[in-house]
Amino acid sequence: MRQTITVLGASGSIGQSTLDVVRRHPDRYQVFALSAARSIERMLEDIREFQPRYAVMVDASAAEQLSDLLGSSTTEVLTGSEALAMVASHKDVDMVMAAIVGAAGLLPTIAAAEAGKRVLLANKESLVMAGPLFMEAVRRGGATLLPIDSEHNAIFQSMPVHYDGDLHKNGIRKILLTASGGPFRGKLLDELTAVTPEQAVAHPNWSMGRKISVDSATLMNKGLELIEACFLFNCQPSDIQVVVHPQSVIHSMVQYCDGSVIAQLGQPDMRTPIAYGMAWPERIEAGVASLDLFEISRLEFCPPDHEAFPCLALAGQAFAAGGSMPTVLNAANEIAVDAFLQEQIAFNQIPTLIRDVMGMHVVTDIESIDHVIEADRWARDCASQWISRSVA
Ligand code: NAD
Ligand code: MG
Repeated sequence: MRQTITVLGASGSIGQSTLDVVRRHPDRYQVFALSAARSIERMLEDIREFQPRYAVMVDASAAEQLSDLLGSSTTEVLTGSEALAMVASHKDVDMVMAAIVGAAGLLPTIAAAEAGKRVLLANKESLVMAGPLFMEAVRRGGATLLPIDSEHNAIFQSMPVHYDGDLHKNGIRKILLTASGGPFRGKLLDELTAVTPEQAVAHPNWSMGRKISVDSATLMNKGLELIEACFLFNCQPSDIQVVVHPQSVIHSMVQYCDGSVIAQLGQPDMRTPIAYGMAWPERIEAGVASLDLFEISRLEFCPPDHEAFPCLALAGQAFAAGGSMPTVLNAANEIAVDAFLQEQIAFNQIPTLIRDVMGMHVVTDIESIDHVIEADRWARDCASQWISRSVA
């Protein structure tokens, strides 16, 4: 029987790569639902090709337009957050690709976890902002959580098969989290004042959405990934070493107590981790070419530059503070990135804004999703006020 998949964030970079893997395996997978914020043309094409039962457009007027354009299609067009949670948790769904960008992905991803789905997690922000609750939802729902972020997918592939959340017992000394260093690797702090959004989103190795591209340029992406790894693999930032590796050929590594290092290598193409997550524990064709090691010829490694890129350390501090602080880090970052993309603040103001918002925050315990939403809102308000003051 074919497995059914809901793709949340179908119109985005990860969503489109996921549909490409589905397209290669019509005998294995069937699309149950697609969701997007408002990309009508893209959705129209994908609905025609994949014939899902549901399409969810977050924007209500986009939903109406899409519905009109589809005419008498078998796909039902819905809108609203309840519809998103419904298609993520429906009894007829086997797996959910969580590829909405940012905090907006939290509720449907948690809904998928609680409903016991195979959760393919690209949306790292939902794990950063609500880590303990998210992992608890996975346990309670009996979900299978598979990391899609290329580094975490590589770590998962390099871990013992029955890893039970105890690094030491499994003979693991350290997780080596690789980072490309982004488009501004090697630049000094002063040189980053005048960089433009277009320069920041031009990632040297990966083609991705705009938000994660800016996160890669500030190294906040590595900070979010550090927190993501702590929750996924039940460890501390001190168990993880960030290794800058500009070629992005090694996607991360696990170092064992006997001196072995196990790594996963591959092209910088997200279809590899996506196909791995969809078919696990099997392997399927992903449309990705094999590595040509002679062409690559050399791999380089160096430590991250914390002075020019303070966001990585801010993330470590947020995780150490615990409670609501990672939620605040994530929300402040989303507002800062958005303001940078709209040219309201400079690139090097991104970490300053986040540091100031974190400095103003009094950590509270996070016991429910309502607490997460409250901390998220507080940080967004605080960050927006910071921007108003700085542009005034
Ligand atoms: P993208 O910007 O290309 O796509 C984002 C998707 O989310 C789109 O379908 C968009 O319509 C939808 N969306 C945006 N705002 C929304 C909202 N408020 N409510 C519901 N849906 C909304 O982003 P992307 O690069 O595909 O990244 C998606 C997620 O995957 C992010 O969390 C990112 O960190 C993670 N990720 C991406 C990559 C990559 O290579 N692109 C790698 C690792 C992890
Ligand atoms: Mg990554």
